[in-house]
Amino acid sequence: MPDRQIQRVLNDALQQFSDLEEGANADYIPALAEVDSDIFGIALVTPDGRVFTAGDVESEVSIQSISKVFTMALVMEQQGADFAPDGVGVDATGQVFNSIVAIEQYKGAEMNPMVNPGAIATTSRVAGESREEIWNRILEFHSRFAGRTLEVNQPVYESEAATNQRNVAIGRLMYAYGHIDSNPDQATDIYTEQCSINVNARDLAVMAGTLANAGLNPVTGEAVMSAANVPETLAIMSTAGLYDDAGKWLYRTGLPAKSGVGGGIVAVSPGRFGIAAIAPPLDEAGNSVKAQRAIEYVSNALGGNPYEVE
Ligand code: GLU
Repeated sequence: MPDRQIQRVLNDALQQFSDLEEGANADYIPALAEVDSDIFGIALVTPDGRVFTAGDVESEVSIQSISKVFTMALVMEQQGADFAPDGVGVDATGQVFNSIVAIEQYKGAEMNPMVNPGAIATTSRVAGESREEIWNRILEFHSRFAGRTLEVNQPVYESEAATNQRNVAIGRLMYAYGHIDSNPDQATDIYTEQCSINVNARDLAVMAGTLANAGLNPVTGEAVMSAANVPETLAIMSTAGLYDDAGKWLYRTGLPAKSGVGGGIVAVSPGRFGIAAIAPPLDEAGNSVKAQRAIEYVSNALGGNPYEVE
């Protein structure tokens, strides 16, 4: 597809949705309420390494739940993709992302790495001799997907660490049911830190572009994850990537995607493009209002739905 056409579609999306007033910043993590609500950026990366951007792709927000995808991919690299269906679960829980009821329903089995109990259990599986080693592997893996060295947003990490009693409870409950076999508080703490990694819209699009390109970062040329684990990663994103609205999203776009309460969304059209948008105000389900609209618009205009045969 010609560069001009792609750029025009991104520009159109920015223009169409930048005045949308719906939604509000997440505020259950106090630092997220302080983030500039007007940040709005869109970026798209093709498998041949072209990068298109529109709007604010410089401002950084915390990656939040989008990190669940990349930490899961890291564990797949270390243990094979089947750790997910065999150990954590891959079905949607049908409950909110931080549901205790979902844990109780199956005694911590049948979770999904895209919701908190499954994500904390997944982080607990990252191999490493010490907290530092585990953390460095997670941060480095995210950085390789983004193609640059990412850093933690320290105020967001401290703000969430001071208020994440619910996630601590989730980690301990998962431990009690035998789905975490290391220190659950350490797993939750590392999970909280991974959620605080700062990214801009361009970073997220390069990360999504790497998944669209069978694990090879199209910008740096680095093989970040094995191609064999990419289809399973995308499948799990499809099951629960947009919280309780994952089904509605898949119906509208066909795209595996993941959103975070920081306001980012990544989506992948395999072999065609990776796309991301950031805009902090969220809808009731916890998904960025503008990012959803922008990605849906761009993908549909560029024929991104993988279920559509030309
Ligand atoms: N750190 C957040 C939490 O666990 C991530 C939530 C999200 O982005 O869905 O509550």
